[in-house]
Amino acid sequence: MWEAPAETRPRDALERETVAGMRRTLAHALGHEAWRRRLPGVEPGDVRAAADWSRLPFLTKDELRDAYPFGLACVERDRVLRVHMSSGTTGNPVLNPYTRSDVEQWGSVMARCYVAAGVGARDVVQITPSFGLFTGGFGFHYGAERIGATVVPIGAGRTALQLSLMRDLGTTVLTGISTYPLRILEVAREERFDLASLRLRVAVLGSEMWSDDLRGLIERELGVTTFDIIGMTETGGPGLGIDCAARAGIHVWEDHYFCEVVDPATGRPRPDGEEGELIVSTLTREGLPLIRYRTHDLTRVLSRAPCACGRTHLRLDRLHGRTDDMVIFRGVNFYPRQIESLLLQQPGAGPEYQIVLDRTAGGRDRLALLLEAGEGFAESGLPRLRHALRERLSLSPEITLLKAGEIPRAPGKAVRVVDRR
Ligand code: ZN
Repeated sequence: MWEAPAETRPRDALERETVAGMRRTLAHALGHEAWRRRLPGVEPGDVRAAADWSRLPFLTKDELRDAYPFGLACVERDRVLRVHMSSGTTGNPVLNPYTRSDVEQWGSVMARCYVAAGVGARDVVQITPSFGLFTGGFGFHYGAERIGATVVPIGAGRTALQLSLMRDLGTTVLTGISTYPLRILEVAREERFDLASLRLRVAVLGSEMWSDDLRGLIERELGVTTFDIIGMTETGGPGLGIDCAARAGIHVWEDHYFCEVVDPATGRPRPDGEEGELIVSTLTREGLPLIRYRTHDLTRVLSRAPCACGRTHLRLDRLHGRTDDMVIFRGVNFYPRQIESLLLQQPGAGPEYQIVLDRTAGGRDRLALLLEAGEGFAESGLPRLRHALRERLSLSPEITLLKAGEIPRAPGKAVRVVDRR
């Protein structure tokens, strides 16, 4: 472990630390006019136990957008060391101003994540997310430097170069967006690159939803053990948590973040084990503290018991999807990940797919599934896939089979749903 005393702290001590962090964060935020307006009458001393936190209102992404650029920032401009920005497609982006302490905090939670993934000073870490306003590149970079690994900061794209550098520099750890390994595998096939020439053993992946089946495919084809890392621009980038070698859920660093799972419709807490929306509060961030931020990510608390790895920090389930990427089609609800899992369970179906929704001239919703598939899939796999979609998800989409490479590849996160309705 990177910080064993903190990572193995007994729960009662951890909970005291949480309450202290809540009070500190409230006092810090309330030092700023915009937060006093948001939280009238609230005093840090009101928080006597973690349960008191649920009396505070949620913070929404819209509020952060409306506060563009620095309306809810809690730092004077001359103390801002760096700015990161969330990738949004509509409206104002969300900016997160980092103080020196925030950059330090980020490096240390990322260092913990690497060590939880079994990465150390002898590793060669190749960083494939972009370096820029997106938090991916820098987060992986600072964490890897902190643990003393060799960093290959190549950034996004140039996949053929990524492969030859991995081979020539003996890269042992791949970091990236969850679907990027698919692109690596694809380019390796095109270039007849010998994957056996690589020394990769670990892949730390995140930033988008990826099913257990996709995870299995990446591990098999790339010969790596994968680790699922979570975090977003608003929380300070990747590093909110990661799963460990016990693969028994994602540890969230509770001395830095307080997580709740609530019913997305009513906002009421969900009991441990039940799925709901993840709410994140920061306990140690300065530039943009979060107090009950609605992430829209769906998960559940798996356990608060000590893990086989020795860490005591609570474990969340892998993210199941987002409250806002649930697709509703003729009254049937589903998440793209459910389709992905069914696809990958059929031999011959590729991991590349796209769900297209549109509306006919007659006003009827139409669901199409574009799917890259190998030779012979139409006869063998397709009938099974249709059956599984109907039985498991009550869906009967029009399925179009495409050749490898025909679905356009987006730079960055994969586009799984195109909704033209
Ligand atoms: Zn563990």
